[in-house]
Amino acid sequence: STPQGLFPEQVEVPAYTLLNQIGEGAFSKVFRAVPAAGSSRAFLCKNYRQLAVKVISKKQLNSHKNNDKSKATTKEQVLKEVAIHRTVSAGENVVSFVDFFESEHYFFIVQELLSGGEIFGEIVRLTYFSEDLSRHVIRQLALAVRHMHSLGVAHRDIKPENLLFDPIEFIPSPRRVFRKSDDPKTKEDEGVFRPGVGGGVIGTVKLADFGLSKQIYATNTKTPCGTVGYTAPEVVKDERYSTQVDMWGIGCVLYTMLCGFPPFYDEKIDVLTEKISRGEYTFLRPWWDEISDGAKYAVRRLLEVDPGKRYDIEEFLADPWLNNCDSLRTQEA
Ligand code: ADP
Ligand code: MG
Repeated sequence: STPQGLFPEQVEVPAYTLLNQIGEGAFSKVFRAVPAAGSSRAFLCKNYRQLAVKVISKKQLNSHKNNDKSKATTKEQVLKEVAIHRTVSAGENVVSFVDFFESEHYFFIVQELLSGGEIFGEIVRLTYFSEDLSRHVIRQLALAVRHMHSLGVAHRDIKPENLLFDPIEFIPSPRRVFRKSDDPKTKEDEGVFRPGVGGGVIGTVKLADFGLSKQIYATNTKTPCGTVGYTAPEVVKDERYSTQVDMWGIGCVLYTMLCGFPPFYDEKIDVLTEKISRGEYTFLRPWWDEISDGAKYAVRRLLEVDPGKRYDIEEFLADPWLNNCDSLRTQEA
């Protein structure tokens, strides 16, 4: 239960057996794990066959804290991540929180495993997603965001790397093979979403990584956190819109899935920042030529610079393209 050479010190996790490494962040490594037999914490993971354990090195936290203030992660931040993860964990499209504890050298955040890994990897593998597959993924992301926003929490780090999935194994059969169907019952994507390549496809999608998340509203009062009544108007206004950063994130993910590259990109960080602040992106030809007007409309409403005009989560969930009534819209027009 101690993978060697991955961290300077030995990783001691008596309650869990760490298997292979499956991910990595600035301060963390993530391992596949199983509950150790007879462990006193086994009751916590009785609903999970496999787990993912995010191991955060205390040593690395402290050294980064001194070197680079902007990227500092402290014990308080880890505890905050855990507290928020606990708060939002019940959401169907949120990665379930299972357990948290620490040893002399590490913090351990135990979560349910999503065996497909990152949506990012699927975009790379498939180049880009069909509109159906994009809709399937983005709807589940939107449900995760609605759950978080309803609890007054902003995720603030929505990107394809933090979107994880469970694969549906696609077993090719003569009735399901790709073909222009004359019998409507044999439509190739009936019941399963196939972007056109065999192998595993995306089933359940869940949002992970609460390292940058923030509690903005008190859970039951919907008032901004802090001393109510003494908050300055610009703070109240800012707080009201601060969950809207996630809607921008959803827009960037949707754009990227549909065409295979992100809406904003530049080698130079200051040029990139400038492009983002002006909302300077295009539906680049020829990649966007075949994509429906409904999809473009949804992207436009999400990548709106003014957070007040930008789709909020309820508006996005009511979007015609998201609800697949594009053809109805064109007929009406
Ligand atoms: P960081 O805050 O360092 O970005 P994350 O929580 O995003 O850490 O985890 C880093 C990576 O580890 C993820 O992008 C993903 O590839 C993998 N990972 C994290 N949690 C899980 C999980 N529950 N199931 C599968 N893979 C995971
Ligand atoms: Mg991450």
